[in-house]
Amino acid sequence: MFRLLGRLAVLAVAAFVLLAALPSAPRGLPPPPEGLKTPLRGVIHVHTNRSDGTSSVADVLRSAANAGLQFIIVTDHGDATRAPDLPDYRNGVLYIDAVEISTSNGHLIALGLPKAPYPLAGEGRDVVEDIHRLGGIAIAAHPGSPKPELRWTDWETPVDGVEWLNADSEWRDERTWTLARALVTFPFRPPQALALLLDRPESVLRQWDALTQQRRVSAVAASDAHARVGVRSLGEPYDSAGSLHFPSYTSSFREFSIALSDTTLTGDAETDAKRVIEAIGAGRVYSTVDALGGPAAIRFAVTSGSRTASMGEALPVAGPVHIHVDAQAPADATITLLRDGTSVATARGARLDHDAPEQPAVYRVEIGLPGAPGTPPVPWMLGNPVYVGRGADHPIDSPHPASRSFMTLYDNGPARGWRIEKADASDAALDVIGALPGTQLLMRFAISGTAAASPYVAFVMPATGMIAMYERLVFNARADRPMRLSVQLRTPGGEGERWRRSVYLDSTPRTVDVAFDDFRSVRSTNGSAPDLAKVDSILFVIDTTNAKAGSNGQIQVDDIRYAR
Ligand SMILES: [Zn+2]
Ligand SMILES: [Zn+2]
Repeated sequence: MFRLLGRLAVLAVAAFVLLAALPSAPRGLPPPPEGLKTPLRGVIHVHTNRSDGTSSVADVLRSAANAGLQFIIVTDHGDATRAPDLPDYRNGVLYIDAVEISTSNGHLIALGLPKAPYPLAGEGRDVVEDIHRLGGIAIAAHPGSPKPELRWTDWETPVDGVEWLNADSEWRDERTWTLARALVTFPFRPPQALALLLDRPESVLRQWDALTQQRRVSAVAASDAHARVGVRSLGEPYDSAGSLHFPSYTSSFREFSIALSDTTLTGDAETDAKRVIEAIGAGRVYSTVDALGGPAAIRFAVTSGSRTASMGEALPVAGPVHIHVDAQAPADATITLLRDGTSVATARGARLDHDAPEQPAVYRVEIGLPGAPGTPPVPWMLGNPVYVGRGADHPIDSPHPASRSFMTLYDNGPARGWRIEKADASDAALDVIGALPGTQLLMRFAISGTAAASPYVAFVMPATGMIAMYERLVFNARADRPMRLSVQLRTPGGEGERWRRSVYLDSTPRTVDVAFDDFRSVRSTNGSAPDLAKVDSILFVIDTTNAKAGSNGQIQVDDIRYAR
């Protein structure tokens, strides 16, 4: 009898603890503000079993339909040489196939790419350049990841977007008791239990606010859904050993989503995929933690003079600036208006109006709900900025300064002092061929052997001691097809130090102009600038960073000069 009572007491305590630990159910929301519709919602950054996810594309799409999403952007790990699936409507959900690319500066999500002509890899700045050349959009993945090899680090490179929130980064930095609470309550309220692991990612938001001072950069909440826990701690990517198939895709998709403002879909998958990608790139997108309440509509309108701009847009200063926010928010929500990353106004409820100085500034909005998880609490909604008097467009690369002084290294005649270095299985030949006028160099290569053996071919030219008096290397080049060539500077000795700068080539002849200051150490991406006084060789290298083992090609090079 006493034993039974004891057991009942234990059960009662357990039930009480569970009830106390149970996160709140999602909030009921008022109808959308007048003139606004329920937004188009989707999830970005999802892995399937084509890389390190657990389900097929078909299962992921079924989960997306269950979660009530209108689009889903799948981003399996890859180098973009797999032809992406065509956009398609399945189970009423628009399926967009994209890719997550690993670079030496962290991971990038690339949207809107065709099949790439060579593997996209290497330094972040080069991969972003390739993504842009191929007509795609580059989003810095999980910049807040506690794992340095995953986290995006190169803020000089003009990415189009950042993941302000990434579920895979978020759970890694939680305290044990929060993880335990999420685990225990997960069977009862899955999306809400997952949301317990979210915080306001302060440093990522600070970084983003700093970037938007210089140019337009959109921010998205990214699921990074794998439907597995534990995989990344063991090895990345693709390592599936010892992982739990938890949480399910459907729960992840109900945790948070991105919504498009001012976008309508036509029902034609290809047109709609273009529209979704364009809206994300242009910042016509906001994020909502649906586990707390959703879907929710929002209007963010900034007026100056006779013009009004909404999320993602630039607005010239042409008179007093007025900011108006209308949201499908409950009465106890808090709307915060941020100017250049700093809170300048708050309002309770569903509406905020603010008169701002007639000056350039970047405005964005966050909405908080009481009881939101995290320290500090994760914003319930987060929108993209309106750029007042700023961010008219991405900056155009400044042209190279005109050189006044040159030293010719190759122009005409034999290739004196050149050598070929290569892996055993690879092949290379250097020939002097006729050109108009004079001659040029023909470099032919075949990269053979297994990728594991890191095959390479290097055409090595002696650097003269004069290199230290110059600032740049300039040459004319073309290749028989699109490729990247790694130009390297090397110091003498078996363990000579190397610095590299990767350049793009294709069948159109071009002048390549690379500043020595832009070369980075092969050993570390943040290494110091080349020690020119010690450099004795200049190498033109083709390796498996951007060439597949088994590929071959040729490059014509002429007019190699130092310049300053
Ligand atoms: Zn990643
Ligand atoms: Zn990922």
